[in-house]
Amino acid sequence: MSSQASARSEVEIAPEWIERLRAQHRGPLLRPGDPGYDDARTVWNAMIQRRPALIARCLGAADVLAGVRFAREQGLRLAIKGGGHNIAGLGTCDGGLLLDLGLMRGVWVDPEERMARAQGGCLLGDVDRETQLHGLAATLGFVSNTGIAGLTVGGGFGYLSRRFGWTSDTVTAMEVVTADGRLVRASERET
Ligand SMILES: Cc1cc2nc3c(=O)[nH]c(=O)nc-3n(C[C@H](O)[C@H](O)[C@H](O)COP(=O)(O)OP(=O)(O)OC[C@H]3O[C@@H](n4cnc5c(N)ncnc54)[C@H](O)[C@@H]3O)c2cc1C
Repeated sequence: MSSQASARSEVEIAPEWIERLRAQHRGPLLRPGDPGYDDARTVWNAMIQRRPALIARCLGAADVLAGVRFAREQGLRLAIKGGGHNIAGLGTCDGGLLLDLGLMRGVWVDPEERMARAQGGCLLGDVDRETQLHGLAATLGFVSNTGIAGLTVGGGFGYLSRRFGWTSDTVTAMEVVTADGRLVRASERET
């Protein structure tokens, strides 16, 4: 598929290419008309109605990596949906590949280190639910079904911010899939 094709809103991905992605992707792949497609493409702002050519529901970093590489290879527009709360609809797209992280909602809390690790599709409530078991709380936002990833990259402001600052200031490390298809870890010591 050419990069010219990616500018159109009506894009079809050849079935053999979808099968090729399926061989590398553990989560479900949904095409228009498939059960679950409409739920997966829906975002918080109901005025935004976009229809990706393909939705890849990721189950881990390896799926995200496979999706990013596939979009590059095919010249497809790529969108990443976390909690789907971006009002402008940046978490979805027309005619491209949508990586839906809505199945990646694991949270692991280390009460001694007072540290939580959360997957990129977590909602604020997912993190609160696990941290409060230990009498801890993260500096997140006001509405529990907002995505932690979109909120954090935008700064993140909530109930605890006046005392403890922005969500982004509390992040110690992130695992990131770069646009050129690499998995990297970013922290104070790693860039
Ligand atoms: C009802 C409502 C309440 C809100 N309350 C607050 C609040 O209390 N505090 C506050 O600070 N903000 C708040 N916001 C704003 C919110 O933080 C932003 O809209 C944020 O972008 C939402 O993130 P999301 O993951 O839910 O959205 P999405 O629409 O899924 O994603 C937003 C952007 O982040 C990118 N993205 C999402 N997940 C990932 C990921 N894992 N990796 C890489 N990129 C990713 C998407 O590609 C997109 O560009 C609120 C918004 C709404 C609609």
